[in-house]
Amino acid sequence: MPQNDSFETLAIHAGQAPDPATGAVITPIYQTSTYAQEQVGVTKGYDYSRTINPTRSALEACLATLEGQGMAKPTYGLAFASGMAAIDTLLKLVKPGEHVVASNDVYGGTYRLFERVLADYGLKFSYVDVSDPQQVEAALLPETRLVWIETPTNPLLKISDIAETAARIKNKNPQIKLAVDNTFASPYLQQPLALGADFVVHSTTKYLGGHSDVVGGAIVTQDAAAYEKLKFLQNAVGAVPGPMDVWLTLRGIKTLALRMERHSANALRIAECLSRHPAVAEVIYPGLAEHPGHQVAKKQMRLFGGMVSLVLKNGAAAANRMVAATRIFTLAESLGGVESLIEVPAAMTHASVSGSPLEVPGGLVRLSVGIEHVDDLLDDLEQALKV
Ligand SMILES: *Cc1c(COP(=O)(O)O)cnc(C)c1O
Repeated sequence: MPQNDSFETLAIHAGQAPDPATGAVITPIYQTSTYAQEQVGVTKGYDYSRTINPTRSALEACLATLEGQGMAKPTYGLAFASGMAAIDTLLKLVKPGEHVVASNDVYGGTYRLFERVLADYGLKFSYVDVSDPQQVEAALLPETRLVWIETPTNPLLKISDIAETAARIKNKNPQIKLAVDNTFASPYLQQPLALGADFVVHSTTKYLGGHSDVVGGAIVTQDAAAYEKLKFLQNAVGAVPGPMDVWLTLRGIKTLALRMERHSANALRIAECLSRHPAVAEVIYPGLAEHPGHQVAKKQMRLFGGMVSLVLKNGAAAANRMVAATRIFTLAESLGGVESLIEVPAAMTHASVSGSPLEVPGGLVRLSVGIEHVDDLLDDLEQALKV
Protein backbone atom coordinates (compact mmCIF):
# COMPACT_ATOMS: atom_id res chain seq x y z
CA MET A 1 0.00 0.00 0.00
CA PRO A 2 1.68 3.27 -1.07
CA GLN A 3 2.39 5.64 1.83
CA ASN A 4 0.69 8.57 0.09
CA ASP A 5 -2.84 7.22 0.53
CA SER A 6 -4.90 9.12 3.10
CA PHE A 7 -5.18 8.07 6.72
CA GLU A 8 -8.81 6.93 6.36
CA THR A 9 -7.89 4.65 3.46
CA LEU A 10 -4.79 3.23 5.15
CA ALA A 11 -6.72 2.54 8.37
CA ILE A 12 -8.94 0.16 6.39
CA HIS A 13 -6.36 -1.44 4.08
CA ALA A 14 -2.79 -1.17 5.44
CA GLY A 15 -1.32 -4.61 6.16
CA GLN A 16 -4.60 -6.20 5.09
CA ALA A 17 -4.45 -7.25 1.44
CA PRO A 18 -6.94 -10.08 0.72
CA ASP A 19 -5.68 -13.39 2.14
CA PRO A 20 -3.36 -14.94 -0.48
CA ALA A 21 -4.51 -18.50 0.31
CA THR A 22 -8.29 -17.99 0.04
CA GLY A 23 -9.01 -14.46 -1.13
CA ALA A 24 -10.75 -13.68 2.17
CA VAL A 25 -11.25 -9.90 2.13
CA ILE A 26 -10.89 -9.64 5.89
CA THR A 27 -7.65 -10.86 7.47
CA PRO A 28 -8.39 -14.31 8.93
CA ILE A 29 -7.94 -15.07 12.63
CA TYR A 30 -4.99 -17.45 12.39
CA GLN A 31 -5.82 -19.30 15.60
CA THR A 32 -2.78 -21.54 15.51
CA SER A 33 0.29 -21.90 17.70
CA THR A 34 2.45 -23.70 15.13
CA TYR A 35 2.91 -24.18 11.36
CA ALA A 36 3.70 -27.24 9.22
CA GLN A 37 7.25 -27.37 7.86
CA GLU A 38 7.86 -28.94 4.44
CA GLN A 39 11.28 -30.14 5.53
CA VAL A 40 13.34 -29.37 8.61
CA GLY A 41 13.61 -25.59 8.71
CA VAL A 42 11.66 -25.03 5.46
CA THR A 43 8.65 -22.87 6.34
CA LYS A 44 6.35 -20.37 4.63
CA GLY A 45 7.84 -17.71 6.92
CA TYR A 46 5.93 -18.84 10.00
CA ASP A 47 7.20 -21.30 12.58
CA TYR A 48 5.68 -20.53 15.99
CA SER A 49 3.04 -17.95 16.98
CA ARG A 50 4.93 -16.32 19.86
CA THR A 51 7.51 -15.37 17.23
CA ILE A 52 5.20 -14.56 14.33
CA ASN A 53 1.51 -14.88 13.49
CA PRO A 54 -0.14 -13.57 10.28
CA THR A 55 -3.04 -11.84 12.06
CA ARG A 56 -0.61 -10.08 14.40
CA SER A 57 1.67 -9.16 11.48
CA ALA A 58 -1.31 -7.44 9.81
CA LEU A 59 -1.93 -5.31 12.91
CA GLU A 60 1.76 -4.49 13.26
CA ALA A 61 1.95 -3.35 9.63
CA CYS A 62 -1.24 -1.32 9.97
CA LEU A 63 -0.07 0.50 13.12
CA ALA A 64 3.33 1.24 11.58
CA THR A 65 1.66 2.64 8.47
CA LEU A 66 -0.69 4.88 10.45
CA GLU A 67 1.98 6.30 12.77
CA GLY A 68 4.34 6.76 9.80
CA GLN A 69 1.70 8.02 7.36
CA GLY A 70 3.07 10.58 4.92
CA MET A 71 6.68 9.99 5.99
CA ALA A 72 9.38 8.59 3.70
CA LYS A 73 11.18 6.59 6.41
CA PRO A 74 10.27 2.93 6.92
CA THR A 75 8.24 2.52 10.10
CA TYR A 76 8.03 -0.63 12.22
CA GLY A 77 5.27 -1.83 14.54
CA LEU A 78 5.16 -4.44 17.29
CA ALA A 79 1.98 -5.60 19.01
CA PHE A 80 1.78 -6.67 22.66
CA ALA A 81 -0.72 -8.29 25.02
CA SER A 82 -1.43 -4.95 26.74
CA GLY A 83 -0.23 -1.38 26.87
CA MET A 84 1.74 -2.24 30.01
CA ALA A 85 3.43 -5.17 28.23
CA ALA A 86 4.51 -2.79 25.46
CA ILE A 87 5.85 -0.25 27.98
CA ASP A 88 7.70 -2.92 29.97
CA THR A 89 9.31 -4.27 26.80
CA LEU A 90 10.42 -0.79 25.69
CA LEU A 91 11.91 -0.12 29.16
CA LYS A 92 14.10 -3.21 28.68
CA LEU A 93 16.23 -0.98 26.44
CA VAL A 94 17.23 0.88 29.63
CA LYS A 95 19.88 -0.82 31.77
CA PRO A 96 20.49 -0.84 35.54
CA GLY A 97 22.01 2.47 36.65
CA GLU A 98 20.54 4.34 33.68
CA HIS A 99 17.99 7.10 34.13
CA VAL A 100 14.56 7.94 32.73
CA VAL A 101 12.78 11.32 32.87
CA ALA A 102 9.01 10.91 32.98
CA SER A 103 5.94 13.07 33.34
CA ASN A 104 4.69 13.84 36.85
CA ASP A 105 1.21 13.28 35.36
CA VAL A 106 2.06 9.91 33.78
CA TYR A 107 -0.49 7.07 33.47
CA GLY A 108 -0.81 5.47 36.91
CA GLY A 109 0.04 1.97 35.66
CA THR A 110 3.22 3.30 34.06
CA TYR A 111 4.19 4.98 37.34
CA ARG A 112 3.57 1.72 39.22
CA LEU A 113 5.70 -0.23 36.71
CA PHE A 114 8.51 2.31 36.98
CA GLU A 115 8.48 2.69 40.78
CA ARG A 116 7.39 -0.70 42.06
CA VAL A 117 8.90 -3.03 39.46
CA LEU A 118 11.69 -1.47 37.41
CA ALA A 119 13.23 0.60 40.24
CA ASP A 120 14.01 -2.75 41.93
CA TYR A 121 16.13 -3.64 38.88
CA GLY A 122 18.25 -0.52 39.33
CA LEU A 123 16.57 1.85 36.84
CA LYS A 124 16.37 5.46 38.04
CA PHE A 125 13.39 7.75 37.43
CA SER A 126 12.73 11.49 37.78
CA TYR A 127 9.26 13.03 37.42
CA VAL A 128 8.81 16.56 36.11
CA ASP A 129 6.09 18.69 34.53
CA VAL A 130 6.79 17.68 30.92
CA SER A 131 4.41 20.33 29.59
CA ASP A 132 7.41 22.61 30.23
CA PRO A 133 10.25 21.45 27.90
CA GLN A 134 12.74 23.47 29.98
CA GLN A 135 11.97 21.29 33.01
CA VAL A 136 12.62 18.18 30.89
CA GLU A 137 15.96 19.58 29.74
CA ALA A 138 16.94 20.53 33.30
CA ALA A 139 16.22 16.96 34.51
CA LEU A 140 18.57 15.28 31.99
CA LEU A 141 21.59 13.58 33.59
CA PRO A 142 24.70 12.09 31.95
CA GLU A 143 23.13 8.62 32.47
CA THR A 144 19.69 9.59 31.11
CA ARG A 145 18.70 7.16 28.38
CA LEU A 146 14.99 7.84 27.82
CA VAL A 147 12.41 10.62 28.19
CA TRP A 148 8.82 9.45 28.62
CA ILE A 149 5.94 11.79 27.85
CA GLU A 150 2.20 11.59 27.33
CA THR A 151 0.26 14.33 25.61
CA PRO A 152 -2.56 14.93 26.43
CA THR A 153 -1.97 13.51 29.92
CA ASN A 154 -4.35 11.58 32.10
CA PRO A 155 -6.48 12.97 33.75
CA LEU A 156 -5.26 16.58 33.77
CA LEU A 157 -4.96 16.77 29.95
CA LYS A 158 -1.70 18.70 29.99
CA ILE A 159 -0.06 19.22 26.61
CA SER A 160 3.64 18.76 25.85
CA ASP A 161 5.27 20.29 22.81
CA ILE A 162 6.67 17.11 21.22
CA ALA A 163 8.86 18.87 18.62
CA GLU A 164 10.39 21.26 21.13
CA THR A 165 10.98 18.52 23.70
CA ALA A 166 12.66 16.33 21.05
CA ALA A 167 14.86 19.22 19.87
CA ARG A 168 15.99 20.12 23.40
CA ILE A 169 16.80 16.50 24.30
CA LYS A 170 18.74 15.81 21.08
CA ASN A 171 20.58 19.09 21.37
CA LYS A 172 21.82 18.12 24.82
CA ASN A 173 22.56 14.47 23.98
CA PRO A 174 21.55 12.83 20.69
CA GLN A 175 21.76 9.39 22.38
CA ILE A 176 18.74 10.09 24.59
CA LYS A 177 15.54 8.63 23.14
CA LEU A 178 12.11 10.22 23.33
CA ALA A 179 9.08 7.96 23.84
CA VAL A 180 5.55 9.33 23.48
CA ASP A 181 2.56 7.43 24.86
CA ASN A 182 0.09 8.37 22.12
CA THR A 183 -2.89 6.53 23.64
CA PHE A 184 -5.03 9.62 24.30
CA ALA A 185 -4.58 11.13 20.84
CA SER A 186 -4.30 8.06 18.55
CA PRO A 187 -2.36 8.38 15.27
CA TYR A 188 -5.35 10.08 13.66
CA LEU A 189 -4.95 13.14 15.87
CA GLN A 190 -1.19 13.19 16.40
CA GLN A 191 1.92 11.59 14.85
CA PRO A 192 4.82 11.89 17.32
CA LEU A 193 7.39 10.29 14.98
CA ALA A 194 6.91 13.16 12.52
CA LEU A 195 7.63 15.58 15.39
CA GLY A 196 10.94 13.95 16.37
CA ALA A 197 9.95 11.17 18.80
CA ASP A 198 11.90 7.90 18.60
CA PHE A 199 9.16 5.64 19.93
CA VAL A 200 5.38 5.75 20.00
CA VAL A 201 3.63 3.56 22.54
CA HIS A 202 -0.06 2.70 22.65
CA SER A 203 -2.56 1.08 24.84
CA THR A 204 -4.60 -0.16 21.86
CA THR A 205 -7.23 -1.01 24.48
CA LYS A 206 -8.42 2.60 24.19
CA TYR A 207 -9.11 4.53 20.95
CA LEU A 208 -7.40 2.17 18.49
CA GLY A 209 -9.55 -0.82 19.54
CA GLY A 210 -12.31 1.67 20.23
CA HIS A 211 -15.07 -0.66 21.46
CA SER A 212 -14.01 -1.56 25.03
CA ASP A 213 -13.82 -5.23 24.07
CA VAL A 214 -10.10 -5.98 23.91
CA VAL A 215 -6.85 -5.24 25.79
CA GLY A 216 -3.66 -4.68 23.79
CA GLY A 217 -0.56 -2.55 23.31
CA ALA A 218 1.96 -1.52 20.68
CA ILE A 219 5.34 0.08 20.03
CA VAL A 220 6.03 1.90 16.75
CA THR A 221 9.45 3.23 15.71
CA GLN A 222 11.56 4.32 12.74
CA ASP A 223 14.80 3.37 14.52
CA ALA A 224 15.72 0.14 12.69
CA ALA A 225 18.34 -0.94 15.24
CA ALA A 226 15.99 -0.40 18.18
CA TYR A 227 13.25 -2.25 16.29
CA GLU A 228 15.48 -5.32 15.92
CA LYS A 229 16.16 -5.31 19.67
CA LEU A 230 12.48 -4.82 20.49
CA LYS A 231 11.43 -7.59 18.11
CA PHE A 232 13.95 -9.87 19.81
CA LEU A 233 12.51 -8.87 23.20
CA GLN A 234 8.92 -9.35 22.00
CA ASN A 235 9.76 -12.98 21.22
CA ALA A 236 12.18 -13.54 24.11
CA VAL A 237 9.82 -12.14 26.78
CA GLY A 238 6.65 -13.31 25.06
CA ALA A 239 4.01 -10.75 26.09
CA VAL A 240 2.27 -11.16 22.73
CA PRO A 241 -1.44 -10.73 21.97
CA GLY A 242 -3.57 -13.62 20.73
CA PRO A 243 -4.97 -13.71 17.18
CA MET A 244 -8.57 -12.97 18.22
CA ASP A 245 -7.46 -9.89 20.17
CA VAL A 246 -5.39 -8.47 17.31
CA TRP A 247 -8.25 -9.15 14.92
CA LEU A 248 -10.67 -7.15 17.11
CA THR A 249 -8.11 -4.33 17.22
CA LEU A 250 -7.73 -4.37 13.42
CA ARG A 251 -11.49 -4.24 13.09
CA GLY A 252 -11.68 -1.30 15.47
CA ILE A 253 -8.99 0.65 13.61
CA LYS A 254 -11.00 0.62 10.37
CA THR A 255 -13.32 3.28 11.84
CA LEU A 256 -10.69 5.19 13.85
CA ALA A 257 -10.85 8.35 11.74
CA LEU A 258 -14.66 8.57 11.87
CA ARG A 259 -14.73 7.85 15.58
CA MET A 260 -12.04 10.40 16.46
CA GLU A 261 -13.88 13.09 14.49
CA ARG A 262 -17.07 12.45 16.46
CA HIS A 263 -15.34 11.94 19.83
CA SER A 264 -13.59 15.29 19.34
CA ALA A 265 -16.69 17.18 18.15
CA ASN A 266 -18.80 15.84 21.02
CA ALA A 267 -16.08 16.59 23.58
CA LEU A 268 -15.60 20.16 22.35
CA ARG A 269 -19.33 20.87 22.54
CA ILE A 270 -19.56 19.35 26.05
CA ALA A 271 -16.48 21.28 27.21
CA GLU A 272 -17.94 24.55 25.91
CA CYS A 273 -21.37 23.97 27.48
CA LEU A 274 -20.05 22.81 30.87
CA SER A 275 -17.62 25.71 31.13
CA ARG A 276 -20.72 27.92 31.55
CA HIS A 277 -22.35 25.61 34.15
CA PRO A 278 -22.75 27.08 37.68
CA ALA A 279 -21.73 23.81 39.45
CA VAL A 280 -18.47 23.54 37.49
CA ALA A 281 -15.38 25.44 38.70
CA GLU A 282 -13.21 24.52 35.71
CA VAL A 283 -13.38 22.52 32.49
CA ILE A 284 -10.06 21.08 31.37
CA TYR A 285 -10.02 20.45 27.61
CA PRO A 286 -7.15 21.29 25.23
CA GLY A 287 -9.68 22.52 22.66
CA LEU A 288 -10.74 25.46 24.85
CA ALA A 289 -8.85 28.70 24.13
CA GLU A 290 -8.18 29.20 27.87
CA HIS A 291 -6.38 25.83 28.21
CA PRO A 292 -2.67 26.61 28.77
CA GLY A 293 -1.66 24.04 26.12
CA HIS A 294 -4.23 25.14 23.53
CA GLN A 295 -1.77 26.71 21.07
CA VAL A 296 0.61 23.75 21.21
CA ALA A 297 -2.28 21.29 20.87
CA LYS A 298 -3.54 23.22 17.85
CA LYS A 299 -0.10 23.01 16.27
CA GLN A 300 0.52 19.29 16.80
CA MET A 301 -2.96 17.72 16.87
CA ARG A 302 -5.58 17.49 14.13
CA LEU A 303 -8.42 17.80 16.69
CA PHE A 304 -8.44 17.84 20.50
CA GLY A 305 -9.70 14.35 21.33
CA GLY A 306 -12.51 12.84 23.37
CA MET A 307 -11.29 13.28 26.95
CA VAL A 308 -12.68 16.08 29.14
CA SER A 309 -12.01 16.68 32.85
CA LEU A 310 -14.16 18.81 35.17
CA VAL A 311 -13.40 20.31 38.54
CA LEU A 312 -16.64 20.64 40.51
CA LYS A 313 -17.19 23.58 42.83
CA ASN A 314 -18.41 21.35 45.65
CA GLY A 315 -15.44 18.98 45.57
CA ALA A 316 -15.26 15.22 46.05
CA ALA A 317 -18.77 14.78 47.46
CA ALA A 318 -20.29 16.50 44.42
CA ALA A 319 -18.08 14.45 42.09
CA ASN A 320 -19.22 11.19 43.69
CA ARG A 321 -22.89 12.25 43.46
CA MET A 322 -22.57 13.27 39.81
CA VAL A 323 -20.96 10.05 38.58
CA ALA A 324 -23.59 7.93 40.33
CA ALA A 325 -26.42 9.91 38.70
CA THR A 326 -25.61 9.67 34.98
CA ARG A 327 -27.82 7.50 32.78
CA ILE A 328 -25.85 7.28 29.52
CA PHE A 329 -22.34 7.88 30.87
CA THR A 330 -21.35 4.60 32.55
CA LEU A 331 -19.36 4.80 35.77
CA ALA A 332 -16.22 2.85 34.83
CA GLU A 333 -12.46 3.03 34.44
CA SER A 334 -10.82 3.00 30.99
CA LEU A 335 -11.60 5.23 28.03
CA GLY A 336 -11.64 5.51 24.26
CA GLY A 337 -14.66 3.32 23.47
CA VAL A 338 -17.70 4.33 21.44
CA GLU A 339 -19.73 4.52 24.66
CA SER A 340 -19.34 7.41 27.11
CA LEU A 341 -17.71 6.70 30.47
CA ILE A 342 -17.39 8.81 33.60
CA GLU A 343 -15.15 8.39 36.64
CA VAL A 344 -13.61 10.08 39.68
CA PRO A 345 -9.83 9.66 39.16
CA ALA A 346 -8.87 10.35 42.81
CA ALA A 347 -11.01 7.42 44.00
CA MET A 348 -10.67 5.11 40.97
CA THR A 349 -7.92 5.18 38.30
CA HIS A 350 -5.61 7.33 40.44
CA ALA A 351 -6.38 5.92 43.91
CA SER A 352 -3.02 4.11 44.01
CA VAL A 353 -1.04 7.33 43.43
CA SER A 354 -2.47 9.38 46.31
CA GLY A 355 0.44 10.86 48.27
CA SER A 356 2.74 10.57 45.20
CA PRO A 357 3.70 13.27 42.66
CA LEU A 358 0.72 12.04 40.62
CA GLU A 359 -2.01 12.81 43.19
CA VAL A 360 -5.06 14.49 41.60
CA PRO A 361 -7.73 16.72 43.20
CA GLY A 362 -10.74 14.93 44.75
CA GLY A 363 -13.33 17.10 42.98
CA LEU A 364 -12.09 16.03 39.55
CA VAL A 365 -14.44 14.14 37.22
CA ARG A 366 -13.04 12.56 34.02
CA LEU A 367 -15.24 12.02 30.98
CA SER A 368 -14.44 9.71 28.10
CA VAL A 369 -16.89 11.24 25.65
CA GLY A 370 -18.35 8.60 23.33
CA ILE A 371 -19.97 8.90 19.93
CA GLU A 372 -23.61 8.90 21.07
CA HIS A 373 -25.70 11.94 20.06
CA VAL A 374 -24.20 14.95 21.80
CA ASP A 375 -27.60 16.34 22.84
CA ASP A 376 -28.32 13.15 24.79
CA LEU A 377 -24.91 13.34 26.44
CA LEU A 378 -25.42 16.99 27.43
CA ASP A 379 -28.89 16.27 28.85
CA ASP A 380 -27.43 13.41 30.86
CA LEU A 381 -24.59 15.51 32.32
CA GLU A 382 -26.91 18.39 33.13
CA GLN A 383 -29.40 16.21 34.99
CA ALA A 384 -26.53 14.51 36.90
CA LEU A 385 -25.10 17.90 37.94
CA LYS A 386 -28.47 18.82 39.48
CA VAL A 387 -28.45 15.83 41.88
C1 LIG B 1 -4.57 2.37 29.61
C2 LIG B 1 -3.29 3.08 29.41
C3 LIG B 1 -2.07 2.39 29.47
C4 LIG B 1 -1.97 0.92 29.84
O1 LIG B 1 -2.51 0.12 28.85
P1 LIG B 1 -3.23 -1.30 29.14
O2 LIG B 1 -3.68 -1.70 27.79
O3 LIG B 1 -4.32 -1.07 30.14
O4 LIG B 1 -2.16 -2.20 29.70
C5 LIG B 1 -0.91 3.11 29.24
N1 LIG B 1 -0.94 4.44 28.96
C6 LIG B 1 -2.10 5.12 28.90
C7 LIG B 1 -2.07 6.58 28.60
C8 LIG B 1 -3.31 4.48 29.13
O5 LIG B 1 -4.45 5.17 29.08
